[in-house]
Amino acid sequence: MGIMAYLNENYLKLKAGYLFPEIGRRVNAFTEANAEAAARVIRCGIGDVTEALPQAARDAMHKAVDELGDRNSFRGYGPEQGYPFLRDAITRNFYTDRNIDVSADEVFISDGSKCDTGNILDIFGSGNTLAITDPVYPVYVDTNVMAGNTGDADDSGAFAGIVYLPCTAENQFVPEIPEQKVDLIYLCYPNNPTGATATREQLSAWVNYAKANNAIILFDAAYEAFVSDPAIPRSIYEMEGARDCCIEFRSFSKHGGFTGVRCAFTVVPKSLMASTQSGEQKPLHPLWSRRQSTKFNGVSYIVQRGAEALFSDDGKAQVDELIAHYMGNAKLLREAAIELNLEVFGGENAPYVWVRCPAGVSSWEMFDKMLEQANVVITPGAGFGAAGEGYFRISAFNSRANVEEVCRRMKALTW
Ligand SMILES: *Cc1c(COP(=O)(O)O)cnc(C)c1O
Repeated sequence: MGIMAYLNENYLKLKAGYLFPEIGRRVNAFTEANAEAAARVIRCGIGDVTEALPQAARDAMHKAVDELGDRNSFRGYGPEQGYPFLRDAITRNFYTDRNIDVSADEVFISDGSKCDTGNILDIFGSGNTLAITDPVYPVYVDTNVMAGNTGDADDSGAFAGIVYLPCTAENQFVPEIPEQKVDLIYLCYPNNPTGATATREQLSAWVNYAKANNAIILFDAAYEAFVSDPAIPRSIYEMEGARDCCIEFRSFSKHGGFTGVRCAFTVVPKSLMASTQSGEQKPLHPLWSRRQSTKFNGVSYIVQRGAEALFSDDGKAQVDELIAHYMGNAKLLREAAIELNLEVFGGENAPYVWVRCPAGVSSWEMFDKMLEQANVVITPGAGFGAAGEGYFRISAFNSRANVEEVCRRMKALTW
């Protein structure tokens, strides 16, 4: 007998999806022991949208289905990079109408930013120094672990080979520019989990650092639709020089309630270069184009028509309404936490409210208290990284009735 096929040992380094399973375990244990409280439990933990899909998107998708039902308007495989009608609508509405220099052939349509932020590693070589914020959306870390770009995790869950950039109240949850040179930097603003936004000055400083150090910023703007303050940037390409050092990820998941429908896009500017081992500069755009046409066959025509409809007059009004609903929830949650005398962050240009636990209370203790006393599920900050300890996240993705009930119960908490 020969030995078996080898597996990718990098997967064995991953922390076993600790956060959400542990939340599930604690909620189950509580509801099994408290049958009458079980029905009262309200989940404000996960970052998934809850409200109905905009009518304009539904109408467009129904129409697209009917087109496919007629041999004369039937469509099979579409372009791997996305249909021109959607690439053009995105470019116009998100970029050129706002005087941002992005062209339609730099926009690559996909079925999600989660996949894109992971898949992008295909076009980077090994040996890059990675900088990742802490706390963080776990996908950035785990995909680098899977790709073999890190060493093992230590007892605190930190992986060797990653430069962690702490985001705390002291730096308004926007990391300091590192002293050392790094090659790839993950930034997400408005931020999940902290709900923080970055100012023009802060993002410009990062772009300047990237340019000076030949680094590349992977900018996740999944929550840009929640920005209402006109002074806050919504795209990294609003910064001078960003076309030379940034890739931007955007998604219709939170923008149009598309978490179940699946549509997103990535912008790779044609002017963005990276280096070969021998020091030659080459553009990344053809690599991403090649990667997508080899490993991906495009997003469903139906879904792309649905996404396009979000840019119609009706679609825009319905998206605005959806965002206003969630941001109304965020305002109520913020106010409830403030009334409890807790220190509150985020929730003003992002659908997450990030709250500092009372002195001496850990984020898991806070989780237990909210579950047991208020029957409300929140997310402990420590689950997003070591620097999240001492904070918890409340998601604004919920019905208004649920949020009002959560606020009532929070105000009744006793210490
Ligand atoms: C929700 C979310 C996304 C969107 O992911 P999709 O795969 O497009 O649904 C991307 N980044 C962050 C940080 C998110 O929270």
